[in-house]
Amino acid sequence: MSLASLDEVERQLKRGFPLLRFSPEIETLFLRQYAAERARLIIIWCLIGLLIYDLVYFGDSAMVPDVLPELIVVRFAIFTPFVFGCIFAVRRWPNARFYDSLTVMAAVLSVTLPMIPAMKSTSQYLFVYQTYNSAAFLYFVISLRPRFRAVLTGLTLTSASHFTTTYLTGAFDQVAYFGIVTVYSMLSIFLAVSAYFLEKSDRKNFLNQLRASLLYRQLEEKAERDELTGLLNRRSLARISDDLWNGTTRQVAVSAILLDIDHFKRFNDVHGHIEGDACIRAVSQCIRDSVDPTSFVFRFGGEEMLVLLTGLEPAQVLATAERIRAAIEGLRIQHRGLGDGWVTASLGIASAVPAEIPLEKLLQKADEALYDAKRQGRNTVAVASRLEPRVA
Ligand code: GH3
Ligand code: MG
Ligand code: MG
Repeated sequence: MSLASLDEVERQLKRGFPLLRFSPEIETLFLRQYAAERARLIIIWCLIGLLIYDLVYFGDSAMVPDVLPELIVVRFAIFTPFVFGCIFAVRRWPNARFYDSLTVMAAVLSVTLPMIPAMKSTSQYLFVYQTYNSAAFLYFVISLRPRFRAVLTGLTLTSASHFTTTYLTGAFDQVAYFGIVTVYSMLSIFLAVSAYFLEKSDRKNFLNQLRASLLYRQLEEKAERDELTGLLNRRSLARISDDLWNGTTRQVAVSAILLDIDHFKRFNDVHGHIEGDACIRAVSQCIRDSVDPTSFVFRFGGEEMLVLLTGLEPAQVLATAERIRAAIEGLRIQHRGLGDGWVTASLGIASAVPAEIPLEKLLQKADEALYDAKRQGRNTVAVASRLEPRVA
């Protein structure tokens, strides 16, 4: 069940979300989807990232062979297990904030860990070596795709680490160092701006999808409801009975209570159709209020309603029908066509086990019982005789 309403989603679309934040209900849904999607993608992205990260071993051995043993420890004994730990943790606890925090940690570690041994290296290739870190910046923002705020934090911390460790190598003069700082700063700004617009478009897509699914559900609900009364219609009777008759509960007894408003033609003649409609609406609401919320209440025909109940004893079904009858009488809707009388209804009950008796037979029996109730003088409940299972 969705937490957000269609109105709320439309309002959010109109208002926009420049700060990359929705109203609390929509934000909760967005974060849930975000976390689930990232948890799904993390295995593939982390394995690709890790493979590339560990292949840099060949770059290490070519460019900084003097600190190779430390770099082997960094890549294979520290960072690799850390990544496997992240995969496990994100899949075990899929949560947006947790995911974002881990991506920031991964970005900072991936840049810092190899730079610590590199600070001791006397290699002449350190300038080329430090450019490898640009791949970590790109991977963090484009592949791991944390939210914009995490991108800002990650880029700031990663840049700070890269600038500090690069400075501490002592291998660069002022001009070269300034060049490195400029390049990484430009890269970070470009990535941050892209991350902002990427998240904005993700959020917009999410809102549009949510709107479409809510609209679809509303449409489906409308298609299954009767316009005048809001009760379930014949179309939903087909769907629900199909579930009851062909589903796993087909051994559980289903009871049908068929109800027809008494002398309603005369009500229309005397009070007019508009009041007639209002009367049908009031009776429908009254039936709904008199039954358990798990029961199905249908508008079966003009002023005929059908209630389907499952798993009840005959005495309980009879009590329900009697409660409905008394409640309708208790509405005291004036019926001038009957002198000083008020609106009443007659009810017929039939029960069957779906595995043994088809729906049509059950309804036919309930209709016969209803006819009996009319014959007995109306405003009464009649029960059909026991239904015999069909012969195989
Ligand atoms: P009985 O006690 O035997 O049921 O008598 P009755 O007059 O109610 O007879 P019946 O059930 O056959 O009459 C149904 C009437 O209900 C006929 C029709 O004018 C009226 N009706 C059916 N649908 C609607 C509706 O949507 N609105 C209104 N106002 N009247 C309706
Ligand atoms: Mg009728
Ligand atoms: Mg009637």
